[in-house]
Amino acid sequence: MSKNIDVELRNIQKRFGSNVVVDNFNIQIEQGECVSFLGPSGCGKTTTLNMIAGFLEPDQGELLIKGKRMNGVPSNKRELGMVFQTYSLFPHMTIFENVAYGLKLRKVPKSEMTARVNKVLELVKLPHVAERYPKQLSGGQRQRIAIARALVTEPTLLLLDEPLSNLDAKLREELRDEMKRLQQEIGVTTIFVTHDQEEALYMSNRIVVLDHGKVEQIGTPWDIYNRPASEFVHTFIGKSNRMLGVIEKVDDSGLRLRSDAGIQLFGDLRNKVGPGTSVSIYVRPEKITLHRENRGTSGVNRVNGTVKQTSFLGAYTECEVEVGKYSIMVRMQSTQQESALASGQEVYLEWKPEDVFVFPREGQG
Ligand code: ATP
Repeated sequence: MSKNIDVELRNIQKRFGSNVVVDNFNIQIEQGECVSFLGPSGCGKTTTLNMIAGFLEPDQGELLIKGKRMNGVPSNKRELGMVFQTYSLFPHMTIFENVAYGLKLRKVPKSEMTARVNKVLELVKLPHVAERYPKQLSGGQRQRIAIARALVTEPTLLLLDEPLSNLDAKLREELRDEMKRLQQEIGVTTIFVTHDQEEALYMSNRIVVLDHGKVEQIGTPWDIYNRPASEFVHTFIGKSNRMLGVIEKVDDSGLRLRSDAGIQLFGDLRNKVGPGTSVSIYVRPEKITLHRENRGTSGVNRVNGTVKQTSFLGAYTECEVEVGKYSIMVRMQSTQQESALASGQEVYLEWKPEDVFVFPREGQG
């Protein structure tokens, strides 16, 4: 079955002076997909989005929308809807006029225009604000109107650049739910720029993780979290405990490692690296089981330590356990017993070889 590709980037590169800020970016985005560009500040997310939007031209490579080459095509000929971090509504126009603006430019007849504006205002659940001015709306409402304005022209592609970052935490979550519902309901192909990993995991069919202008990984949220292509991806998304160590042995059953705290650990063959390699060893807090007693199971990756601190966070409890020179964070479902773990208490930690991530340390083979 052939896929409908709405957007394609082929070897896109952008330089500012001698600084390469987007390097060799390749992706095909299917119709109806929501793809997030995720990465730390300065990694090139906005620059890439601006090239897709037509605000910047790539120095190298090709950009295609619906199979047509877009290099050099002005932004207003690309059939895009855009929403930015700051509310870009016109203050002197009513909400109706703001939303209708794109249709007016396209000379859509009045009756059709009214019907389409009313329809998108219904979609963003604000049909009653049409006659108000932007300053009479809350921040969250204004951002919904910005979304309505982007959707009213029925764009091929919706570009969202950190649309939630000016909102407080509760509103952010609400609008995030709303955007996901809208995106799925309308089925508009969407590119979402964010530095917030949770937002990216929540919103996207696929995530592109960027670092210093380079694509580190493109994958589903599950893949990015569970099969990170690099140490950067693993540590950028979610929390993880890090230890240093060396690979002692590699055989069919997996990796045998020794951490520099003298602990012997086992990993699987997913991140196969040769014996003698210095590595960073990671395990996520929610993959560790905490026992109060040394029940003597045959389990590997079993260490003992002392509780430093326990924090009850509602749905889960975090416990920091001192294991030799390391402080290991464990995340457990909250039970009364777990949240009452006392500092100084001796506990046993255990995790599975498949939950161990191993990455060779820079410059050490
Ligand atoms: P943020 O989340 O902070 O917006 P970002 O990932 O979107 O970051 P970009 O805005 O794409 O990053 O910037 C990538 C790099 O390009 C940064 O180092 C930035 O300083 C540089 N840069 C961006 N625009 C220009 C410009 N017009 N001239 C020179 N350098 C620029």
